Amino acid sequence: MHCPYCRETDTRVIDSRVAEDGTSIRRRRSCAACQKRFTTVEQMQLTVLKRSGATEPFTREKAVTGVRKAYKGPRSVCGVHNYSDTNRFRQTGTKAIIKALGCKQIWLTEAGGLYKFVGYKADQKRQLKATKYMFKVAKANKKIKRLYVYSWFGAPRSARFDSGLINPNGTPRKAYAEVRKHVK
Ligand SMILES: [Zn+2]
Repeated sequence: MHCPYCRETDTRVIDSRVAEDGTSIRRRRSCAACQKRFTTVEQMQLTVLKRSGATEPFTREKAVTGVRKAYKGPRSVCGVHNYSDTNRFRQTGTKAIIKALGCKQIWLTEAGGLYKFVGYKADQKRQLKATKYMFKVAKANKKIKRLYVYSWFGAPRSARFDSGLINPNGTPRKAYAEVRKHVK
């Protein structure tokens, strides 16, 4: 990454934000040579590595077709781990996968509410909101019979990802109380 002002290659990231739809990251950078600041946008480009060794861009249609092919024939229980829905307050991906699978029963693994992630600051209220939404997703689909919440322990401050229900020192976060409500 060159500085647009002086072409220096030594630049420092001072802030990163993930766009609402999760497919791009805006980074605020500072140049080590001239100290000027500028913004870069990284667009996510998912690539699928094929068995032949060739690569092709990821498309949802192809992914769904692939899942369908892999699950030919009746299956009674399928595990689904689509952790990207809950924290964006949507269920389109989960719905599409469940439909494509055609299983009688779904066991859903969810990341639960994100407490902290790259571009997301630590926020218990947002985590609680996403955790509530996770139960909404599970209740909205009759095929979902089990819900696995990930994860129990919070990560250390330096970690990139943290969806723990309790802090590393054992004190509960707001999302913990929400999960407790649903556990009998
Ligand atoms: Zn510069």
